[in-house]
Amino acid sequence: MRIKILGSNGWYSTQTGNTNCVLIETKDFYLVLDTGDGLAKLDREIKSEKPIYLFLSHFHLDHIYGLHVLNKFHFSQSMTIFGQPGTKKILGQIIASPFTVPFSKLKFKVVAQDLREGINLLPKAPLPVEARFLLHADPCFGYRFQIGDKIITYCTDTGVCENLLRLAKGADLLITECTLKSGQSSPQWPHLNPEDAAIIAKRAQVSKLLLVHFTANIYQTLKERQVAEKAARKIFPETYATFDDWEIEI
Ligand SMILES: [Zn+2]
Ligand SMILES: [Zn+2]
Repeated sequence: MRIKILGSNGWYSTQTGNTNCVLIETKDFYLVLDTGDGLAKLDREIKSEKPIYLFLSHFHLDHIYGLHVLNKFHFSQSMTIFGQPGTKKILGQIIASPFTVPFSKLKFKVVAQDLREGINLLPKAPLPVEARFLLHADPCFGYRFQIGDKIITYCTDTGVCENLLRLAKGADLLITECTLKSGQSSPQWPHLNPEDAAIIAKRAQVSKLLLVHFTANIYQTLKERQVAEKAARKIFPETYATFDDWEIEI
């Protein structure tokens, strides 16, 4: 499968990138993780009619404001948006007049569906997914996807917590956040620094660690991301600090 980063910034977009959005293309479907304004690039990537499954971690605006560009797309397939309990109701309020075009008026079919904490077997999507609440200022889901024989874990906007470790255990790929720089911490609004992410990857014995969600005011250049990657690699060598349009096959 192909993993492409469509948005790698946290909080707001700058010359270093758009806000959080990750695309995973498998042989049967497209998986989109969060909808920062990196989502606007999605139509560049969708070249077949495979269904699109979109998973939202939480409702902080930098993770959902990309949804207002759905009106730009003319996909022939449908899109299902999954998220924590309340997703259907909250999106129904925000993706609505007077803010933007509602799902019912788009040029393709979009439906929203709530998940529960725990393992979700999705009747219409061939991917069992485990969802757990992470440690964040507002409720935020982390996800562990079983895709064929691979396990992909996506956990952004979290401090170090047991559920992060649990979702990451033995994953082929852990995609997590790098909001802070080495030595920084923020107990009131928990996030990870490069070493935190690398320690989790090591403890969970994942195969690869991708860092995303580099917060715009802290990481002002891509060079600073390389410094983070170097620091994380001292603990977990298979770490990759990503940037917009960064891509990998696994
Ligand atoms: Zn965020
Ligand atoms: Zn957040």
